[in-house]
Amino acid sequence: MTTRLVLVINCGSSSIKFALRKEGDSQPLLSGLAEQLDTPGANLSWQAGNEKHTEALSGQDHQSALASLLPVIGRFAGQPISAVGHRVVHGGEHFTGASLIDEQVMAAIEANAPLAPLHNPANLIGIRAARKVFQDIPQVAIFDTAFHQSMPPHAYRYALPDDLYAVHGVRRYGFHGTSHQYVTNQASRLTGQRPGQGAWLSAHLGNGCSSCAVFNGKSLDTSMGLTPLEGLVMGTRSGDVDPNLHAHLARTLGWDLPRIERLLNRESGLLGLSGLSNDMRQLEQARANGHSGAKLAIEVFCYRLARSLAGLAVALPHLDGLVFTGGIGENSPLIRALTLNHLGILGLSLDPDANSSLPRGLAGKIHAPGSPQILVIPTDEERQIAEESLVLLDHSHAKD
Ligand code: AMP
Repeated sequence: MTTRLVLVINCGSSSIKFALRKEGDSQPLLSGLAEQLDTPGANLSWQAGNEKHTEALSGQDHQSALASLLPVIGRFAGQPISAVGHRVVHGGEHFTGASLIDEQVMAAIEANAPLAPLHNPANLIGIRAARKVFQDIPQVAIFDTAFHQSMPPHAYRYALPDDLYAVHGVRRYGFHGTSHQYVTNQASRLTGQRPGQGAWLSAHLGNGCSSCAVFNGKSLDTSMGLTPLEGLVMGTRSGDVDPNLHAHLARTLGWDLPRIERLLNRESGLLGLSGLSNDMRQLEQARANGHSGAKLAIEVFCYRLARSLAGLAVALPHLDGLVFTGGIGENSPLIRALTLNHLGILGLSLDPDANSSLPRGLAGKIHAPGSPQILVIPTDEERQIAEESLVLLDHSHAKD
C-alpha cells in the first residue's frame, strides 16, 4: 500500500492555515498560510523543504485561495491526496471523535456555533470552500472538544440548575483536545508504555493555555470550560476569576457586556498583569531586567498552573508523569522550573541541568531520579489531525 497524503486545514474568518502531511512523517511536505482574505491585502505564503514562496491574492476569498493552492499541492504531492482534515473548534456534545463531513455534520457544526461564535462559522467557511475545490476527496472534521467528551459528569457539570445544561448545553467542554491527546500519546511511547497508556497530566502553554488529566488515552478533566476563557492565566485571557466579577464591574463601573468580554479575553492574562506584553519571551527578558510587572505576571502564571495541575491530579488513580507542551511549555526552562517549585506535593522533582540543556524543539525527559516523569514534548496538532483523518477513513472503508 502506498503512503497516503492528507491536507490539513485550519480555517479562520480571514485566514487558512494548511499543511500537506504524508502518513507517518514527522514533518509536512508543504505548509503555509493564506491571510487577509476578502481584503486587497490578501496573500498566500508557503514553504516546502527549503523552498519558500509568497504571492498576492488581492481580494480573493477562501475558495479561490484554496483553488490557487491546487497546482502547488499537485507539484509536491505527486499522487492524489486521500483526505482533507479540518480543524473545528466546537463539537459540543454531538461529536466524540473525528467525523466524515456531510450535510448533517455541517448542520451540527452550525448548531454548535452559539458556543463558539468566532470559530465555528469560520471553520464552516473553510469546509464549504474545500468541498467545492476538492470535490472527490473525503473531508473529515476533527474537533478541539471531542477528546474531552470522555470527562465524567462530576467533571463537566457546573453547579447550576439542570435546565441550563439539559436545554441550553451549559457545561464544561474543554479545548486543545488534539494537543493533549497527541502529547500524552507520545508520552506513553517515550516511556516505553503502549501508545495511549498511562496516567498523565498535560500542560499546553501557548497563547492559549490549558491543563488536562489523561488516563489510558481518555481525558478525565481539563481546565477550560464552556469557553476557552476558563482555567489558567493565558496571554491576554484572565482564566478563572470570581464569576460575580461581571456583575461587580457592571454595577460599580457601569461596564456593558462587550466591554467586560474585551477585558477578560483581550486585556487580561500576562498582558494585563504585567502591563507590558502577552509574549512570554518578552516577559522573561523584562523580568531579568527587574521589571516588577513581568515578575508578578510570571509568578501568578506559574502558581496558577501548578494549582490547576495539582487539582487535576485527583482525577487520576496514580501519576505517571507531567508533560509540558506549546510555545511556552516547549521552550521555557524558567516557566517549567517555577511551576515545579510548587508541585513537590505530587512528588515531582526536576533535574535542573536536563531542564535547562534540553535542545529547543526536541522531546526529552527532565525529571530527577525517583520523580514521576516530567517530559517536554513538542505538540503537533496537524499530525494528530492527519492521523485521525486516516484512521476514520480506514474504519469507514472497513464498514463498506
Ligand atoms: P504558541 O501559541 O504555542 O505559539 O506559543 C506562543 C507563546 O510561546 C508566546 O508567549 C511566546 O513568547 C512563547 N515562547 C516561544 N518561544 C519561547 C521561549 N524561547 N521562551 C519563552 N517563551 C517562548
